[in-house]
Amino acid sequence: MKEPLIFEKSADKRKGVSIPKSDCPELNPQAVIPKDFLRDDIKGFPEVSEIDAVRHFTRLSQRNFGVDSGFYPLGSCTMKYNPKINEDTARLAGFSKAHPYQSDELSQGALQLMYELEGFLCEISGMDAVTLQPAAGAHGELCGMLAIAAYFKEKGKPRKKVIIPDTAHGTNPASSHLAGFSVVPIKEENGGVITPDSVAAVMNEDTAALMLTNPNTLGLFERNIKEIADIVHKKGGFIYCDGANLNALMGIAKLGDMGVDVIQFNLHKTFSTPHGGGGPGSGPVGVKNPLEPFLPKPRIIKKGKRFNLDYNRPKSIGRLKAFYGNFAIMVRAYSYIRAMGPDGLKKASEMAVLNANYIKEKLKGRYHLAYNQTCMHECVFSDKLQSEKDVHILDIAKRLMDYGFHPPTIYFPLIVSGALMIEPTETETKETLDGFIDAMLKIADEAQENPALVKNAPHTTRLGRLDETRAARNPVLRWKG
Ligand SMILES: *Cc1c(COP(=O)(O)O)cnc(C)c1O
Repeated sequence: MKEPLIFEKSADKRKGVSIPKSDCPELNPQAVIPKDFLRDDIKGFPEVSEIDAVRHFTRLSQRNFGVDSGFYPLGSCTMKYNPKINEDTARLAGFSKAHPYQSDELSQGALQLMYELEGFLCEISGMDAVTLQPAAGAHGELCGMLAIAAYFKEKGKPRKKVIIPDTAHGTNPASSHLAGFSVVPIKEENGGVITPDSVAAVMNEDTAALMLTNPNTLGLFERNIKEIADIVHKKGGFIYCDGANLNALMGIAKLGDMGVDVIQFNLHKTFSTPHGGGGPGSGPVGVKNPLEPFLPKPRIIKKGKRFNLDYNRPKSIGRLKAFYGNFAIMVRAYSYIRAMGPDGLKKASEMAVLNANYIKEKLKGRYHLAYNQTCMHECVFSDKLQSEKDVHILDIAKRLMDYGFHPPTIYFPLIVSGALMIEPTETETKETLDGFIDAMLKIADEAQENPALVKNAPHTTRLGRLDETRAARNPVLRWKG
């Protein structure tokens, strides 16, 4: 069961493939490659047979846990199952082999797909225009905030502040700061949401926007959003909504109808793209008309039956990404939306919300529910009951691995101490949810009756409890032989 490093499998002169001896004169690498590019810090590369190389990497791949191997209920990240048909469409040669420098004339299909995807996202969100350029959710946030900054600059009255609730995602204050704003924090009250009063108390003519996540990071819908938007609009500000949690709303509610002026979509969460492991992602941004001139260039326009890239955009914040964004992700999202249709998208949101509430109701009482109310697509518990026995959320997460589940998000959102944030998503069956619930209830029993069992988990994995910080503090990135 123990898989050594590929270097440890190496045997002198063992080969993966045999090729005929070259009839070209041999060159000495030292003579033809500049010294700076010649590495001298690895003595030799592993010498293994082909089958040993195949087995090594196949074994390592089997140690991965992904949504294709089991339940993966990370909160805030929508690790949903992505139908394989969308992988097929992204691999169609007409899309996958298109060159970004191909002329508009020879890219009509790709441009049409992007143009139509922008339209679908407008329809889903209630926005007037969408850019597909940003490469991730946080990149989209930056794009939206830069557009807002550019708007006020053009008016000759730059504004300095952005209001952000403590229930917002951590990327929200970071993006605002990068766009040159200072952040005015406000607190949730009244059961996990922000109130019109708390916004009115800090909103003024120096505030460019309120940036909120809806549903927020507690998995709760910001019920007062319309009233809050009115307060912000009256003072000339914008509402930015982090739309990464759209999996709770699509097909049901349009944020644009609630006063939202800017929103980013996380295609790699809501719209069918496998994510985790760092990308690639796609974070399109939707805006209302007043902000449209500031979107990144180029924009895709349609004249008659022809699609073109328009670079003549004097007010644009410029380019945020090479070429036009991560195109293959857009193909997956397009394919997903077309395959689901309006009713399918709505059903997905409904099932996502139903599944989260099912888990919430079944675990409530045995785990402390941070905010006891109907949730959206995710629910937040804490380790309050278990910590009386010195069992903490990290222990519970590790113990879940013994039961074959990927642990949910822990210690986030930050405003709940010892948080456990569960997002089952829409595709899981009742049997899978029940299996997870059973495991969670067993762990709750164990925490009372045999706390040491939970505290020393996992017991069944290849490796036990790792030092969570050592790899970051003392990284060993090179094989030393
Ligand atoms: C994931 C997420 C983000 C950031 O998106 P990235 O694509 O990881 O940059 C922002 N806000 C919320 C609520 C998220 O869940």
